[in-house]
This record gives sequence, C-alpha cells and structure tokens, in this order.
Amino acid sequence: MKMSSSVVAYTFRHFPQLHNRSLQLFSLHRHPFRQPCTVTSSSSCSLLSAFSLTGNSFFRKMERYWAGSSINKNKGMVEHLQRYGVIQSKKVAEVMETIDRALFVPDGSPAYEDSPMQIGFNATISAPHMHATCLQLLEKNLQPGMHALDVGSGTGYLTACFALMVGPQGRAIGVEHIPELVALSVKNVEKSAAAQLLKDGSLALHVGDGREGWPEFAPYDAIHVGAAAPEIPQPLIDQLKPGGRLVIPVGNMFQELKVVDKNEDGSVTMRSETSVRYVPLTSREAQLRGY
Ligand code: SAH
Repeated sequence: MKMSSSVVAYTFRHFPQLHNRSLQLFSLHRHPFRQPCTVTSSSSCSLLSAFSLTGNSFFRKMERYWAGSSINKNKGMVEHLQRYGVIQSKKVAEVMETIDRALFVPDGSPAYEDSPMQIGFNATISAPHMHATCLQLLEKNLQPGMHALDVGSGTGYLTACFALMVGPQGRAIGVEHIPELVALSVKNVEKSAAAQLLKDGSLALHVGDGREGWPEFAPYDAIHVGAAAPEIPQPLIDQLKPGGRLVIPVGNMFQELKVVDKNEDGSVTMRSETSVRYVPLTSREAQLRGY
C-alpha cells in the first residue's frame, strides 16, 4: 500500500486513535518513559489538540507551556526530557548535552523542538524523545570499549552519541543506504564533539544495506535500527553478542519498538517497549520512489 510522505515522515511514539488519547494520556503517566512530554512531541499527531480534547486543567497548563516554549537550547531540551522521565540517567543526559542536535538538523529547523524532521530522501531525523528512549534502552550496552551498530544512521546523530559512550576503545558503526545522507552525516559529525572519534576511526559511517548488519565489527553489544522492519533481519540477531541488545521498530502501518536481548546461551528474549512510527527499513529504490 502506498503511504503518503506525511505518513512516513515521522519517527515518534505513535498514538493511533485520537478518541482514545485522553485514556492513553492518563495511563501514560504511570510509566516513567510515557510522560506527557512524550506525547506532545509528535508533530502531525499534535497532542496540543488532544490536550484541548481532554478538558483537563493539567493539560491546559501544558498547552500554555508548549505554546510559549522556552526550549530553545540543547541543554533546555535535555532538561525537559529529564523532567518528564524520558532521560533517566546522568550518562544519557551528558551525552545528549554534549552532542548538539542543531548540528544534525537541516539549517533553519527548530533543532530543539521535540519533533522529528525531514532530512530529504524520504527520511527523517527522529524526535529527541525517541533518541533519548533508545539511548536509555541501550545504555548498559554502550559502556566504554563496547561495539555498537546504528542501522539507518541518517544524520549520524545517534551514531555520534554511541561513539561518545563507547569511547575511543570502542566501536560505533553507522550504516545508511543513501550515500548523500552518509556524506552529510560525516559533515555533521565533523562539526560535533564526536569529531575526533571519527578521525581516529572508532566512529565510522558506511554506505550499505543495514539489513545485512556490518559483519566487520560484529559481534555487537548494542544494535539500534532507526527504521521499521517488517520483520527482524536475521543478520542483526546473528551479529548480536551474547548479552547484547537490539532495539528495533517492527511493523508496517502499526509498529512496535522491540527490545531483543541475546542470552548467554544464544537464545533471544523479546519484548515490546511502545508503539512508534518510523520510516520503513527497505531497499534504497523503494525509499527513493516514496515507498
Ligand atoms: N536514526 C537516524 C535516521 C532515522 S530515518 C536519525 O535520527 O538521524 C531512517 C533512516 O534509515 C533513513 O536515513 C533511511 O535512509 C535509512 N534506511 C532505511 N532502510 C535502510 C536500509 N535497508 N539500510 C540502511 N539504511 C536504511
């Protein structure tokens, strides 16, 4: 089925039914990751309208807060994500403060708004809350010296974050199938706090079909996929180290962020973290013709 570009242009937590939102917002409060800021962050699926629908005074306050948003600095963006429990650890806060998101979004874009943005080639940079969520989910597998793979690395933002976390003794590998985006991501990283790691080779950005992983530096402690796969590509599971973790959105119209842990005996355990909407993990041709 052909999806319009406005449908595929977003990477955020997905809230399918407008009329269910007030209920979802209520239950979201119980989960540390699912705080109000999470839902305000989708752009097309505007939660401001959902707030209006709830008639709840708390949400009206949030609406005013967002309307007069003071989030205009990278640190402010991070603090906001911390305040609402999306960022839970000092390490993730530090790395997101250190890698300035403004260096990775197209010129003139509102860099610190919690929203995904078009980066060309029918791709997007994910919303900050999704980057933060994935960093939190992978934090234990991004210790100094570990190996991390970022499939669908796009702007290079998350690969740069991984590189800072695994440090010069580790490996952070980005694989992206649009050569122009790889070239752009290299330029972005060169302006960022991860520039030296790129220069020294512990961070590398490659053109390739990420569904094949990147065998050269396997096995990986952490694998992140930034595009939704109809099903989990076997090479990614094969390239996961025992004790390693894969975070991948799975699905088509309806997608779930899956957390796949490889156990020491090689078996895998899988759970769903949340509903999301990502662009598809697909062939270059399909992506360039609009899926
Ligand atoms: N995580 C990145 C980009 C997210 S958009 C960021 O936040 O900047 C998803 C990316 O996956 C796009 O850049 C798209 O080109 C890429 N992609 C889709 N299918 C792919 C595949 N088979 N192999 C490699 N990259 C792929």
